[in-house]
This record gives sequence, structure tokens and C-alpha cells, in this order.
Amino acid sequence: MKSLGSCELYVSACGTIEQADAAAQHVLGLSADALRGQLVLNRLDDSSRKRWRDFWLQWTPGTPGVQADAVQAPADLNIVRGDGSWVPTCAKVRASRDGEPGRALLTLQPLVTKPLSGTGRAPDSLHDALTGLPNRRGARDIIEAASALGAQAGETISVACVDLDNFRSINEGYGHDLAESVLRAVGALLLECAQGFGRVCRSAGDEFLIIRRSARSAEEMRSFVPLFMSRLHRPIEVGGETLVVTASVGLATQACEGNRFDALMQRASQAMSRAKRLGRNTWYIAQEESTPSLAQQIIKTRLYRAIEQGHLALHYQPIVDLRTGRLRSLEALMRWEDEQLGQVSPSTFIPIAEESGLMAALGAWTLEQACRQAVQWSRSHAVNSPIAVNVSAVQLQRGEFEVDLRRIMAEHAVPPGMLELEVTESALIHDGAHLAALSSRLRGLGVGIAIDDFGTGYSNLLYLKHFHPSKIKIDRCFVHAITSAPEDRAIVRAVIDMAHAIGAKVVAEGVENEEVGRLLCELGCDEAQGYYFARPGPAGAMGEWLSGEYPSCICSVRVA
Ligand code: C2E
Ligand code: CA
Ligand code: CA
Repeated sequence: MKSLGSCELYVSACGTIEQADAAAQHVLGLSADALRGQLVLNRLDDSSRKRWRDFWLQWTPGTPGVQADAVQAPADLNIVRGDGSWVPTCAKVRASRDGEPGRALLTLQPLVTKPLSGTGRAPDSLHDALTGLPNRRGARDIIEAASALGAQAGETISVACVDLDNFRSINEGYGHDLAESVLRAVGALLLECAQGFGRVCRSAGDEFLIIRRSARSAEEMRSFVPLFMSRLHRPIEVGGETLVVTASVGLATQACEGNRFDALMQRASQAMSRAKRLGRNTWYIAQEESTPSLAQQIIKTRLYRAIEQGHLALHYQPIVDLRTGRLRSLEALMRWEDEQLGQVSPSTFIPIAEESGLMAALGAWTLEQACRQAVQWSRSHAVNSPIAVNVSAVQLQRGEFEVDLRRIMAEHAVPPGMLELEVTESALIHDGAHLAALSSRLRGLGVGIAIDDFGTGYSNLLYLKHFHPSKIKIDRCFVHAITSAPEDRAIVRAVIDMAHAIGAKVVAEGVENEEVGRLLCELGCDEAQGYYFARPGPAGAMGEWLSGEYPSCICSVRVA
């Protein structure tokens, strides 16, 4: 079929089509003869009728003073074609040149290249009035029905959550009407791209969904998304403006089983937020869905009890000055020994605590213990090195974090400079503006911020500008092989230079032998932590050790 171009219709004062040009046949799917005498209203879908009626009632081109060729836009109209398919269009009206009062020339500019199947719908509780697309409730029905259909065949269902970038600026800059036209145009465009591929819904303001069910829906969606994103990049013409719209897209897939709409939507929406944080105009695929294993469920239940019954402990590991061997700080590391499970690593139970809502309680407990210990050691052993506490992203995002921290510091009278927080890169990019403000308030309290596991999280270093970290801890995966791997050495050297340039100290993690320590020292690294200097130990043992060695050198590396 010929690709759709714009067409023109002469419309009488009472709203009937008097004459149609040759292109009208492609857009409306009816010959000029068949169109003659029909009400424009009858060729519109339900969602467009009210718009047309409202426009037509106040359309008075014959009024003296209104220029004969003045153009007015009745906004977008969805045209119902002769065969029941439909075409979303951008419509303009101007007074016809013959000057006959009330007679108008209606130009319809299709927003798609081919008609779409199925008519536009009347707004109802399952459809969105603006675009005629299924709304969020409609999407729930579609996904639940698809899940039931695909369950037998072992199919999967994939959702792309498409959120327009900076839509608010279109709304504020161009006004509500034009913003609505953009939404209609984007909806139509997605519908066109997804024809034969999947269903399109408008789930919220500027958020659309594309839904696909098949045996290979995840791969198919991965091939499809770049196609429609590149299509979206082409300028859109609405209401006399030419706009370029981009979107951030999150993909999620799940097996067709049960009614798990919310779980699928949550993952797609989180992936979309991730795409936004990655700089917008990109897409991100949600992690494979993981149902908690039995082992995880057992850990969760027992961890809950361990917190209640006080079965957790903190161990401490020294961080030393590479040149003098002097203690610089002590990192608090959580330990849990369960009577059935034995020692459970924090790398195992902390993610479970984060997922099951236990992290806030666990984090507050750690802060409290660490602050108590810092003050005790400063009194009993004249230790004036800070204690470094690991803080997870989940803790930082809670509004209560700062309140809890201030309360705990005040209760234990923690002097400035005695507490440091270790935060991973990925936690910092989560909510940049909020955390930048938080970190500056923390500095005001005398609390330092160290970026933990540096190099493993995020590649865009822009965030460093806002956080002014006091320390950067190079992850041990870059450190352990620096004596044999030139690439690792180059990375460590670059991190050291960069950290010094922004006024931060550098700590190397996981130093297990003297050779590594010496090389780090030569590269200009300030501090180190690792089994070569000391393993983490309980507070009691660490206290003894502090009494014995402190403030003399723990162990310095011999620099040639
Ligand atoms: P992390 O913050 O990177 O902590 C350092 C980890 O490296 C610790 O493991 C420590 O025991 C280990 N380590 C220290 N020196 C060496 C070495 O020379 N070689 C090797 N191979 N490893 C070394 P751990 O205690 O198992 O902790 C693992 C992770 O669990 C921590 O990594 C941290 O991300 C998390 N974690 C521990 N305690 C807490 C806590 O209280 N709160 C939060 N949010 N996370 C914690
Ligand atoms: Ca750490
Ligand atoms: Ca670390």
C-alpha cells in the first residue's frame, strides 16, 4: 500500500464533507464519492469526536476580522477508515479560499505510515481517553490473559516500559495542549511500530508499555526496542512545532504463570529508572527474575531471629598508612554465626537483609555499636582514628537515615572525625541530588565519606564532583594482581592520580603480601587494608592488639 501522505477535505458549515482530494482515499479508505455528504464526525473514533465537536462549535471563519487563511488546529484526530482500521492524524483547519462563510479546508497529516488495525475505542475504565490505548488496568488484563494463554506452551511475557525523557519540560515550555498532542503522536507511533509485534498501552502520564508474549519474547523484545527507539528519534510535528522526543526504556521478562502483573511491572519500571540514571535515551534490561531459594528463605528467617536475639557481632580490621604502618582507621565488618548455618558471610546475608526490609534495623544496630566502640577505644586506648562503617544504598535512601545517625552520634557523644561511612559507587548514583546534599551535611558533622569497592560499580565519574569523598577505596580485584598484571597496575595508578586530583586519599583493599604493598607505596597509594597487615578481629582481640602495638607501627612495607 502507498505510504500515507496528508490529504485535504472541504467541510461545509454544518460539518459535512463536500469534497475530498485524491490522497483522501489512502487516509480515509473511502473514495471521494463515498466521502461526499458524510459528517466528519462519523469518520472519527470516539476519543476524537468530542475534540472535533468542541472545535467545530467555536469555529467561525466567516467572522469579520478573522483572516481568510487563518489556520487553527483542532488537535489530533483519529480517523476511522472504511475497512475499520484507523489512522491517527494531526489535523489543521483553515477558512476555505472561496470565502464562503463557515466553509473550511481540513488538512489531515497522518502520524503513521500505514493504517492501524482495530478502531480507536471509547474511553472506559480500561482505556485511556487521550490516546484510546489500554490504560494500566487494561494492561493488567492483557498481561493476565496472555499469561494464562502462554502458560501451557511454556511461553514468556516481556514488557518494555517506555518513559519519555524530560516530558515535563515539553509541558512547561509548550503548554498542556501541545504536550497532549505529543503523547498522542508517540502513542500512535508506538502502535505503528508494534503492529504485529505486541500490544501497546499507556500506563501513566508519559509512560507507555509494549507487551509481547512468545516462546522467545525476551530476545525478540531486545531486537525490537532499538528499532522503535531509532524511529522515535525522528522529529515529530505537532501543533506547528517540530520536536525531538527521546525515551528511557526498561525491559523485564517473566514466565507465563499465575497473575503476577505487579511483579513484572515493578521490574520493568525499576529497569526504566535505571535507564534514566544511565543518562536517559537508553534502555536497560532487568536482571533475570530470581525466586528466593530455600536457602535464602531460611537465612532470612534466622537472620530476623539473630537481630532480635542479638546474635550479630562486629569485627574490626585496621587500615594502615602505607609509609609509616600507623593505624589510620578501623573498618567495622558484620559477623553472624548461626548455630545451624555456621558462619554466614555478610556478602550473603546483607543482600537478603536489603531485600526483606531488615537492613534499616541492621544498619542502625551497626552504627550504634561502631560509635560506642569508637568512643570507648578513644577513651581507653587514646585511639583517635575513625571507625569506618559500611552503609548500603537501601539505608541511604531512607529519609530516617540522617535522623538516626545524628541521634546515635549525639547519644554516644562521638567527636568529629571519629566516624567514616563507606558507600559503594552504585549507591551514590541512585539519587544524586539528595545524596550530594546529605554528604555535605555529613561533612559538617565531621563524618567522612569513603567510596567503597571503587572501580566495580559505575563508569561515569561525574558523581565524584558532587560528593567530595575523603577516601577512595580501590577494590581488591584491581589490587591483588598488580605485581603481575600491567593493566591492573595502570588502573590503580590512574585511580590514585584521579583521587589525589580531587583531594581524596586512596586506600587499597585486599593487600595480602608485602610485594603488593610495596608497589602500591611506589605508585603513591596512601593507605592499605588486607590480611598482610591484619585480619578482621572481634573488638576484644582488637583492643588487646591496640594496647600492644599502638601507636607504634603495625607493619610497614619496605620501600626500596
Ligand atoms: P567490603 O566493604 O569490601 O569489606 C572488605 C572485605 O574484604 C571483608 O569481607 C574483609 O574481611 C575482606 N578482606 C579484608 N582483607 C582482605 C584480604 O587481604 N584478602 C581478601 N581476600 N579479603 C580481605 P567481609 O567481612 O566478608 O565483608 C564482605 C562485604 O560485606 C563487605 O565488603 C561489605 O560490602 C559487606 N559488609 C560487611 N559488613 C557490613 C555492614 O556492617 N554493613 C553493610 N552494609 N555491609 C557490610
Ligand atoms: Ca567496606
Ligand atoms: Ca570494599
